[in-house]
Amino acid sequence: MSKAPQHDPAQDAPEVRRPKHQAAGVPAVVNSLRVVGEQAGLRRGLPLLREVNQTGGFDCPGCAWPEPGHRHPAEFCENGAKAVAEEATRRTVGREFFTAHPVADLADKSGYWLGQQGRLTEPMYLAEGATHYVPVPWDEAFNLIATELAALDDPNGAAFYTSGRTGNEAAFLYQLFARRLGTNNLPDCSNMCHESSGSALAETIGIGKGSVTLDDLYQADLIIVAGQNPGTNHPRMLTALEKAKRAGARIATVNPLPEAGMQRFKNPQSVRGLARGTDLTDLFLQIKVGGDLALFSALNRMLLRANAIDREFIEQYTHGFESFAAHHAEGDDEATMEDVARRTGLVAEDIERLFAMVLEADKIVVCWAMGLTQHRHAVPTIREIVAFLLLRGNIGRPGAGVCPVRGHSNVQGDRTMGIWERVPDRFLDALGEEFDFEPPREHGLDTVDTIRAMRDGLVKVFFAMGGNFVAATPDTEVTEDAMRRCRLTVHVSTKLNRSHVVTGARALILPALGRTDIDAPAGIEQFVTVEDSMGIVHASRGRVAPLSPHMRSEVAIVAGLARAVLGEGDTVPWEDLAADYDRIRDRIERVVPGFTDYNARARLPGGFTLPHAPRDERVFPTATGRANFTVNPVTSPEAGPGRLLLQTIRSHDQFNTTIYGLDDRYRGIHQGRRVVLVNPYDADELGLADGAYCDLVSEWADGDRRAPHFKIVHYPTARGCAAAYYPETNVLVPLDSVAETSNTPTSKSIVVRFEPDTAPTGP
Ligand code: SF4
Repeated sequence: MSKAPQHDPAQDAPEVRRPKHQAAGVPAVVNSLRVVGEQAGLRRGLPLLREVNQTGGFDCPGCAWPEPGHRHPAEFCENGAKAVAEEATRRTVGREFFTAHPVADLADKSGYWLGQQGRLTEPMYLAEGATHYVPVPWDEAFNLIATELAALDDPNGAAFYTSGRTGNEAAFLYQLFARRLGTNNLPDCSNMCHESSGSALAETIGIGKGSVTLDDLYQADLIIVAGQNPGTNHPRMLTALEKAKRAGARIATVNPLPEAGMQRFKNPQSVRGLARGTDLTDLFLQIKVGGDLALFSALNRMLLRANAIDREFIEQYTHGFESFAAHHAEGDDEATMEDVARRTGLVAEDIERLFAMVLEADKIVVCWAMGLTQHRHAVPTIREIVAFLLLRGNIGRPGAGVCPVRGHSNVQGDRTMGIWERVPDRFLDALGEEFDFEPPREHGLDTVDTIRAMRDGLVKVFFAMGGNFVAATPDTEVTEDAMRRCRLTVHVSTKLNRSHVVTGARALILPALGRTDIDAPAGIEQFVTVEDSMGIVHASRGRVAPLSPHMRSEVAIVAGLARAVLGEGDTVPWEDLAADYDRIRDRIERVVPGFTDYNARARLPGGFTLPHAPRDERVFPTATGRANFTVNPVTSPEAGPGRLLLQTIRSHDQFNTTIYGLDDRYRGIHQGRRVVLVNPYDADELGLADGAYCDLVSEWADGDRRAPHFKIVHYPTARGCAAAYYPETNVLVPLDSVAETSNTPTSKSIVVRFEPDTAPTGP
């Protein structure tokens, strides 16, 4: 077990090697054990690895990939092991640490360094004008927040952010607290990731969630994986794809980057997998950033031309087919395909090969992630994908459907619990009836609007349940300045991060229990529930004693806060609910549809699957009562001369803004993060020498944004496209550069130019 790094490796000196063409394998096993050993120690860590994602165990605090019916003894991936190790670390950050480190010093440290210091062990307070955080008793902390909230002219002067790790029970109480206070300002991390999916799916099929189960993947004839890098961001998905391949499925990968995980998967859960591995992708389409709308529009045009459509399904279940077909009948095919080739960077033969695979497939699943959702035209793109599936009846039958893959373990559950700034009235009606009050009806602020409101002095109190807001959000300098304009910023966290050192006039850090920690208020162990990316709700029980008696569960924090803010007279029995989570679930059962017998079914091995009318009954609760075809004129981002389209990406040693390490071994990047991947031909045209350093500059109506000192790496990206890690490049994403309808930051298509390196120090 190693001590936290003292020397700050901010001196980012990336070493570049050849990219890999296969994922997982023995290196994943070795890396998992190394990280667990370094952070938690093998004696504490190995038993936890045996419990993660097991029935009766705890849910992985990483992504939201579901557990298979039959679980492997090691039902986790390398990044799951890193997430467990980081949470179960024995390193701690307490009063001594904060005494030794003034906030100004911490502000100069990298996100990696901050995260490596360990678990937060006691509530800390930064007074106005103070240089150091100091310990504060919980009750005093709650009263501080109550005083600031009471000083607001309007409860909408506060915003309550949620990161996707918060369990269902805490999320339900948290939204209830905010609404009891009188606001719907409930921004969450989903606003920055799958909001575009939710908007498009709600409009077209009537529910903002994926319709696919693991069994559907195993039964599919064709799986299209678009704008997603499962090898790093949802690694156990590779096991499901391997199983689907063995069952005869074909896989088409659509991505600007050739990711190792979609090439060959060496499954460490089987000898055969380790020895031989499985080639996953049958067809790789190296599409330009943001070219997916053009691609699926072309496929739909070709399907209509070939009359290769399920007319019976269309007539029986859909609406809007005529205008959709008329739209695709317009124009000249040749000119259209030329336009598609320009926008996608693909040649006609590529698209025809995919089309041939589509015609041969009876059952099709389309999976996607941020590569589709973080563009100006993200919502039309996802609507066009739904149309692609509707044309051949690929919704609501086995082996077919939509599969947006969620990135955070309970991000979908939080939304189901009411963490949404524009939750439907039927939810507010049920909530008001259950707790005998009239909830606020005015829609609240999502993440981008919250930043605007803080910038404009309208939101003065910012409260975050988990997450690392200033690192996860766009337009870093604007967001950090906005945060500093607040009267009070509060973060409920397990570990130290950048958002703790970019504060309002006053700040609080409240240490929370994590998934691995035993949660036993009043000595009675409680379990929480989470909902994975496929709508399965299951239990999660902590397994290790918390490192400090001063840590509290998110449920206890919300209950304590609510009592302090809303007062003794508040009708909600906060303490009663916090003492026994079954009582919270009883309330959820009466407010949220689909949770009948919640407590009984949550105790079932594997939990239960929430209803999904389009999947289960081909019932589409849309505005028309049918599945909606939509007309989506083709558009795509353009870079212009001397510029490239940059997409922000994660490294393999990263989960959202949590940096586990400084390697990205699949892409050949080691010991550094300030790199920009550029296609060699583009680099030659732009005069960007491999290994040289440069600044990245994005252009927007209100001026330029600069990210200095990036090492140029000649890399096989799609022509015209570059890639670099976030949060380092979030500074380049203008706050106002958002997707239509969903207001999601366009972090996957930023126009950048390259300028000489302005950083004082080079390697
Ligand atoms: S695939 Fe996701 S949920 Fe599963 S172990 Fe890996 S990080 Fe955790």
